Amino acid sequence: MTERSSIEEKFKDIEYNLNVIREKIAEAALKSGRKPEDITLMAVTKTVQPVFINHAIDCGIDLIGENKVQEFLSKEEFLKLGACKAHLIGHLQTNKVRQIVGKVDMIQSVDSVRLANEIDKQSLKKGVTTKCLVEVNIGGEESKTGLDAHMLEDTLYQISQLKNIKVCGLMTVPPICDSEAELNGYFSKMYRMFIDIGNKKIDNINMDILSMGMSADYENAILNGADLVRIGSAVFGPRLY
Ligand SMILES: *Cc1c(COP(=O)(O)O)cnc(C)c1O
Repeated sequence: MTERSSIEEKFKDIEYNLNVIREKIAEAALKSGRKPEDITLMAVTKTVQPVFINHAIDCGIDLIGENKVQEFLSKEEFLKLGACKAHLIGHLQTNKVRQIVGKVDMIQSVDSVRLANEIDKQSLKKGVTTKCLVEVNIGGEESKTGLDAHMLEDTLYQISQLKNIKVCGLMTVPPICDSEAELNGYFSKMYRMFIDIGNKKIDNINMDILSMGMSADYENAILNGADLVRIGSAVFGPRLY
């Protein structure tokens, strides 16, 4: 196969994959009493070359997610983003905050007051308000980033004091589960927290976005209340590191 035709093959795959995913999202949305357009599909573009990201954008993708500051910044000049927004979804070190604030539309991976403080400080310097989601480690896994569920409320009260951050909701990556029931348990626990926090009407804290669900489990996530799903390999194929 020539280089050219293998790119075209992959373009077709991306198109096909997006159609399948959109159908499944629509079905899960309707099943959970919502409209298909109430669910936001993010294409997760870590390790994906700009040419394929641009094709996904041509196919109607209007939100991409990157994990690493450096990777996003190095690919950015090759992306034809247009109206497509970009979110940071991977763990963010405080010393990288300066480079990313103002470059992405949202940081989904805020998991400490310390990080929030730095985002606030750099946002003030750049004269922007940075939209954020607070990441919850819903499985309480040692190895994972994200805030412990029992610290969420207190942390949100502290972040609510920061003038240059706007919290828009919550994000999670659940543990790898042995059963669908276990997985649904984590998703529904997240949904309850999302609703409970929303009802507290904390100043400057909105619960508009519940970001959960990836390639293997986005339908379950939507059925349990997700309104933003982050899908990588089901769009672009397996990641080659
Ligand atoms: C990689 C990644 C995804 C997408 O994973 P897939 O299984 O490829 O869909 C979603 N969210 C986060 C935080 C990720 O790091």
